[in-house]
Amino acid sequence: MTVVTRFAPSPTGYLHVGGARTALYSWLVAKAAGGKFILRIEDTDRERSTQPAIDAILEGMEWLGLTWDEGPYYQTKRFERYEHYIQQLLNEGKAYKCYCSPERLETMREEQMARGEKPRYDGHCRDNPHVSGDRYVIRFRNPQTGTVAFNDHIRGPIEFANSELDDLIIARSDGTPTYNFCVVIDDWEMNITHVVRGEDHINNTPRQINILKALGAPVPEYAHVSMILGDDGKKLSKRHGAVSVMQYRDDGYLPEAVLNYLVRLGWSHGDQEIFSVDEMIRFFKLDDVNKAASAFNTEKLNWLNQHYMKSLPVAEVAKHLQWHFTDQGIDVSQGPALEQLIPIMAERVKTLKEMAQQSRYFYEEYDDFDADAAKKHLRLVAQEPLALVQRNLAALTEWTPASIQAAIQRSADELGVGMGKVGMPLRVAVTGTGNSPSLDVTLALLSQEQVVRRIERALSYIMERAQEQ
Ligand code: GLU
Repeated sequence: MTVVTRFAPSPTGYLHVGGARTALYSWLVAKAAGGKFILRIEDTDRERSTQPAIDAILEGMEWLGLTWDEGPYYQTKRFERYEHYIQQLLNEGKAYKCYCSPERLETMREEQMARGEKPRYDGHCRDNPHVSGDRYVIRFRNPQTGTVAFNDHIRGPIEFANSELDDLIIARSDGTPTYNFCVVIDDWEMNITHVVRGEDHINNTPRQINILKALGAPVPEYAHVSMILGDDGKKLSKRHGAVSVMQYRDDGYLPEAVLNYLVRLGWSHGDQEIFSVDEMIRFFKLDDVNKAASAFNTEKLNWLNQHYMKSLPVAEVAKHLQWHFTDQGIDVSQGPALEQLIPIMAERVKTLKEMAQQSRYFYEEYDDFDADAAKKHLRLVAQEPLALVQRNLAALTEWTPASIQAAIQRSADELGVGMGKVGMPLRVAVTGTGNSPSLDVTLALLSQEQVVRRIERALSYIMERAQEQ
């Protein structure tokens, strides 16, 4: 049997981290079994479904690398199929027309609530041949006795009494099929073997199983994934920071880090923290997924992101870093190759966004020195060391980290001062800030002429300031 799984988002918003984790788990089940992963857009709620949301979901899935083998299917394009099966159930007496007026249903509901009962349809039209009218919905004839049981891969055995379930509406009065019915038909026609979805669907599962059985369709296996909570134990929401997957891209995270983070959010394999996608596919098991809700932990995501910035092939990181430079309007065509930049910056930042922000001086002449750094280091006392190191750097015939380091050292020695007295003014002069990777590699990534020019500018700045005082 080919394992077939699906991700079936309702396109009412962006792809959020909870959905992405469900998609990842579902994708892993298919990949591990050499099966198929299907993307299905559940867009029957036309009021709330939007094209931008569909685009955002597809973009998020693609960015994460959760490629689908089939689809995207759209439920709104499959109404004929649903109507076909509704008719079949009607013909077989497994569904019936219900003519109850909204007023009758409302009165019934109020009475049930007043008696402290759970509101449910009382079956008025179920076996009553005398009811008729122009306006009707179609209800599924749910079994009234017995139980529906399934063995959830994450939550273990779950059982519902049929007496708890009423006769579900499967078509509205305008003839359109309802959500639970569409899911059943799709899962069946798409040969889904494993339904991996959020725990908010647990109560739908017995209803769906009953309909599948009535249709003579096989019942898939189920796994209901728990919620993701914020670090304060409350349901994860915008209050906690980013919840949209694409926001993580915008904030400078690598898809590898987000995937690794998501897979561990509720699943573990010994005490291993770092998982390549191949390892995830090899080790992931639905049965090992935690049934308790998992709490989001940004520190850990940052840690993973830094790990991947340092360890992925630089060309891969460069692709994503380029996106951030473009996003920040920094033209990197003149200046060091991103492949050279990444190894020296990765240690110093948590995200690619920060990396781009903090690397601006490699590609652009800055307008101003960082105020604090200039105040501290571009003072009159720095004039002599800066002028000397400028001369020594200008005289170099070879422009490498080693020769640059030697020139800085020689300058400090000649003045009989520590390296810091030369290094700090030099750093502010060349980068505009008091914070950069070590000077030898930083300067080596710039051109000799550029460095000499920037020191010249810092010297003028010192003179101007001195005159102002
Ligand atoms: N469309 C549903 C949702 O976005 C998922 C339904 C399912 O996976 O069965 O919550």
